[in-house]
Amino acid sequence: MTDTPFNPDDALDPLASLPGELAALKEAGLYRQRRNLQTPCGPLAQRDDLPGPLLAFCSNDYLGLANEPALAEAAIEGTRRWGVGSGASQLVSGHYQVNADMEARLAAFVGMEAALEFSTGFMANIGVMPALLGRGDAIFADKLNHASLVDGALLSRAELIRYPHNDVAALAARLEASRAPRKLIVTDGVFSMDGDLAPLPELLALAETHKAWLLVDDAHGFGVIGPQGRGSLAHFGLSSPRILYMGTLGKAAGVGGAFVAGRRDVIEWLVNKTRSYIFTTGAPPLLAHAVLKAVELIEQGDARRAHLTALIGHLKAGLAGLTRWKLLPSDTPIQPLVIGDNHETLAVSRALEAEGLWVPAIRPPTVPKGSARLRIVLSAAHSLAQVDQLIAALVRLEARP
Ligand SMILES: *Cc1c(COP(=O)(O)O)cnc(C)c1O
Repeated sequence: MTDTPFNPDDALDPLASLPGELAALKEAGLYRQRRNLQTPCGPLAQRDDLPGPLLAFCSNDYLGLANEPALAEAAIEGTRRWGVGSGASQLVSGHYQVNADMEARLAAFVGMEAALEFSTGFMANIGVMPALLGRGDAIFADKLNHASLVDGALLSRAELIRYPHNDVAALAARLEASRAPRKLIVTDGVFSMDGDLAPLPELLALAETHKAWLLVDDAHGFGVIGPQGRGSLAHFGLSSPRILYMGTLGKAAGVGGAFVAGRRDVIEWLVNKTRSYIFTTGAPPLLAHAVLKAVELIEQGDARRAHLTALIGHLKAGLAGLTRWKLLPSDTPIQPLVIGDNHETLAVSRALEAEGLWVPAIRPPTVPKGSARLRIVLSAAHSLAQVDQLIAALVRLEARP
C-alpha cells in the first residue's frame, strides 16, 4: 500500500472558510454580539445602539456592589497603596500581603482552613481538576455544570462521567461502577441557568462513602445564600476535608477574580501544581484590597439580601398567573422563564427590549433543546417598581396573540 502524498491544495484554508462559517452562525441565530455600554454595571444600562437606557435584568451583580461607592473607594485606596500591576506570578515575584490577607479572610468566611486566589473563576476551574487528578482517574459531573468545569475535567485527562441533573441515585450507581483510583464529584452549588441548588448533603455523603473529592463551584451562591452570604456550604451547614470550595468575586462580590478554599495541605498542593495559578501574572493587588471591603459588605449585607429575597418573591407572585410560560422552581436571584421555542424566546426578548427592558434569551446548546428561556436575574440594586415594570411587560406579552 502506498501513501497518497498530501496535496497542499486540499488543505482547508481557514481564512477562506471563516466568512462562510460566520454567516452560517448568523443564519442559525447563534451569532453572539457584544453591546457597548456607556454606563457602569447597574439596573440602568445605556447601550450605544439605542437612544435611551434599558432596565437590565442580566448581570450577576446580585448585591448591587459592582458600582457601590464604598467599594470603588476601596479600589482607589488599594491602588494608592499597591499600585496597579502585580509584576509577575506570585510564586516568582512575591505574594503581596494584601493578597495573603484576602485569602485568609475568604477562607475563614466560608469556613475553610486556607484559600488560594485566582484571576477568574474560569481559571480556577480549568486549573484545579488537572492538579488533583490525571489519566485513569474519574470525574463525576452534573450535566448542567458550568462550561469551565467541563473544560477543567477534560484538561485533567481523567475520565469524565456525567450524571443527570441533581440525580443522586444515578451518581451513586456511577460511583459504584467505577474502579478509578481517584474520584472527584463536581457540581455547581447554584446552577447558573436554572437557579436551583445542588443536593450538597447527599453529594457529600456519596463522596465520603466513595472516598472522593467534592468540588463545589459556588459562583452564584457566594455572597447570596447561607447565613451572612457565606455560600451554599454554610446554607446546608456542611464542612468536610473532602470539600473544595470555589467562589467567584466578580458576581455578588462585585469586583473580579475567584478563590478555591479547602484544607491547608490541599491548598498547598494547589499552589505547587495548578498551572493556571503558577503560569499567570498575579491579579492586581488593588483588587484584593477591594475584595476585603466586599467581604465586609457581604457579611453586613443582610439588608441587601432581604431586599433581594423580597424582589424574588414579588417576581414569582407576579408571574404565577402565566399560562404558557413558566418560571423554573428557583429561590435564588436566577429566575429562568421557560418559553420553550427558540424563535419565540428570541422574539419575546426583542419585544422586551423595544419596551426598554433587557432580559437575555438563552437557547440551546447552553440549555437543553426545547427549554429556551429568558434568564431573569434580580439584584439588590433593583427597586420593587422596576420589577413591577418587568412583570407587567411579561404578562402583557404572554397574552398577546
Ligand atoms: C461565572 C461562572 C464561572 C466563571 O467565573 P468567572 O470569574 O466569571 O470566570 C464559573 N462557574 C460558574 C458556575 C459561573 O457561573
